[in-house]
Amino acid sequence: MTGIELVRGDITRQSVDAIVNAANSSLLGGGGVDGAIHRRGGPEILAECRKLRASHYGKGLRTGQAVATTAGRLDARWVIHTVGPVFSGSEDRSELLASCYRESLRVADELGARTVAFPAVSAGVYGWPMDDAARVAVGTVRDTRTSVSEVRFVLFDEPAYEAFAARVG
Ligand code: ADP
Repeated sequence: MTGIELVRGDITRQSVDAIVNAANSSLLGGGGVDGAIHRRGGPEILAECRKLRASHYGKGLRTGQAVATTAGRLDARWVIHTVGPVFSGSEDRSELLASCYRESLRVADELGARTVAFPAVSAGVYGWPMDDAARVAVGTVRDTRTSVSEVRFVLFDEPAYEAFAARVG
């Protein structure tokens, strides 16, 4: 059974096996969680992202996919980069958002990570309503078979924390 834990705070301060990054498909860094992870984790992470891009993801990492790098100076062994979908009011993209959580857990399993911290993927610049982002995140983790023993959702502000708390129950 995978335990779900909720923390209000900064994901770059977590001590876990793997920290999930809400990356963009370029893998070359961005704002939000992505910017914070690269800032605190140092240049090693970006260097590995660049190599991955050159070797495997010339067209970018596809939405809903996940790939791991070193965690640099973060207190973790790996960063798992996943690309969330941009929210759409006209099209249901929740399966792609679910895929981010499933694929990140699959990569975590491959690595042997037992504790994994997730941000609220797509719920920032990508515009996903927090309540629905929490529904997909918690529902997908609960429905995924994984060797990860602890999933820690790290929520940046109180409304995000409350939205996840309502789903975890
Ligand atoms: P996306 O582009 O997938 O929407 P963002 O990074 O813009 O990703 O935002 C995703 C969520 O992460 C938002 O709820 C945002 O408030 C939150 N966030 C931003 N910085 C941090 C951080 N350092 N730790 C945890 N969550 C963060």
